Amino acid sequence: MSPQTPYVSRRTASFGENVFTTYTRLAQQHGAVNLGQGFPDFPPPEFALEALREAASGYQQYAPLPGMPALLEAVAAKMSARLGRDLEPAQNVQVTVGATEALFAAMQAFIDPGDEVVVLEPFYDAYPADIIMAGGVPKFVALEPQGDEWVLDFDALEEAFTDRTKAIIVNTPHNPTGKVFSEAELDRIVALADRYDALIVSDEVYEHIAFTPHVSIAGRPGAWERTLSVSSIGKTFSVTGWKVGWTVGPERLITPLRMAHQWIPFVVATPLQVAAARVLQEVETNGYYAELEGLFRRKRDLLLAQLRGTPFRAPAPQGGYFVIADSSALGYEDDIALCNALPERAGVVGIPPSALYSGAHKHLAKHLVRFAFCKSDEAILEAGERLKKLS
Ligand code: PMP
Ligand code: GLN
Repeated sequence: MSPQTPYVSRRTASFGENVFTTYTRLAQQHGAVNLGQGFPDFPPPEFALEALREAASGYQQYAPLPGMPALLEAVAAKMSARLGRDLEPAQNVQVTVGATEALFAAMQAFIDPGDEVVVLEPFYDAYPADIIMAGGVPKFVALEPQGDEWVLDFDALEEAFTDRTKAIIVNTPHNPTGKVFSEAELDRIVALADRYDALIVSDEVYEHIAFTPHVSIAGRPGAWERTLSVSSIGKTFSVTGWKVGWTVGPERLITPLRMAHQWIPFVVATPLQVAAARVLQEVETNGYYAELEGLFRRKRDLLLAQLRGTPFRAPAPQGGYFVIADSSALGYEDDIALCNALPERAGVVGIPPSALYSGAHKHLAKHLVRFAFCKSDEAILEAGERLKKLS
């Protein structure tokens, strides 16, 4: 849009349609294999569907403001074990409409006009929008591809912090690079946040899709009191349409977030919360998380093996369900030209990562493309066969 769009607010004028919607539409128009938007094209586990069926027949009215007690308890139990800390369900957990609303509510609760928020790029596209809608100013620090890794330059990170810094958003496992931050990296982020008295918002929606151990920053020394840990049910149980998420943190941070949340959706869909609680209770004993990690490791390796016979070069991600591939060999002008051509030329859709970089850094994505592997084996194999014809 533009500021000339009738009635549009200055906040919204800078927004265009999000990249995932655009490229899923393109996939549908061309009947292409959609390795763009990150949602599974296979069914969730049967125990999740059963939990939803059961919950659907009861629970038709508003849930309590913090969330349904069973879900608060399940999240508190899971995160108490992870963080080695006794969490109180209603004081330390807030249920939200997916991680998306948690991130929005966090910015609404803590960011004043002019406050700066440090964001690593490539970023999940909601972060800058959430910051702008709160009147804040995103400060971008680019991760650097070095060999098979994405490296955080701590000098650049330190430069991004100023006395106006109110928060940093960290995402691990990281979308789209697949980076899983190490304990040492997380500790250095905590030290900087501590020095500038900044809030840490930790987006961990891929917490159970990690091929090297995932660590929650809130569990690192000195982090708890300044950290909000955000996650959701969508990726872990292949139910992105449920939109049930949560934020965990100290009461002094959860209360303001809850005060913002009550004016956003008010509360979250009750039957879906009950189903989510049931699902989290079941995985305490059914070994699902190990199975999930195995499933996505296999799909990652399948996509990487398929890409080996194509012009794309891709390192193995450490977590999440995306690969970032280099497309230089194909000679397109930039990632958008490539991703716009691929559906028709190859029958495959990928996401142009420049949409996940700030204006000044979009050139860093010039020869990159993001492919999702949260897809059926058939889709991954078919996409691979189609991309091989580009050689
Ligand atoms: N953060 C990241 C990094 C994501 O990839 C996604 C995926 N949609 C979200 C947040 C949003 O999660 P949800 O669907 O639970 O709102
Ligand atoms: N998280 C998913 C992705 O990165 C989907 C996001 C969305 O559709 N908004 O593809």
